[in-house]
Amino acid sequence: MFVSTTLEDNLTNKRDFFKSLFFYSFFYLVTTNALNLMKKMTCKQLGGACDHIFEANSFNEMVRLSKEHGSKMFQKGDQAHIKAMKEIEELMQSPEAMKEWIEEKRRLFDTLT
Ligand SMILES: [Zn+2]
Repeated sequence: MFVSTTLEDNLTNKRDFFKSLFFYSFFYLVTTNALNLMKKMTCKQLGGACDHIFEANSFNEMVRLSKEHGSKMFQKGDQAHIKAMKEIEELMQSPEAMKEWIEEKRRLFDTLT
């Protein structure tokens, strides 16, 4: 009697173990897929001047890519990008306007799928 109870308990534990293992791997799969989901934004959407597409899975990464591209174009002497960057520089004079501008881009990023 005692033995069979422990055996049964053992089996239940094993079943629970596999059940949780299944749920964890499912959860893991879903979250990693979500993290690997790259969002796309164009240079224009980020206040730039062309249709160059940036791919990132976080807003900060998106901003970093856009800045990198912006300074590259600036170095090339691309007039459209220089103009766009000047506009952002003017915006930076007002911290409130800058904050609002960033929030607007962040909202746009969040609505992307
Ligand atoms: Zn651009």
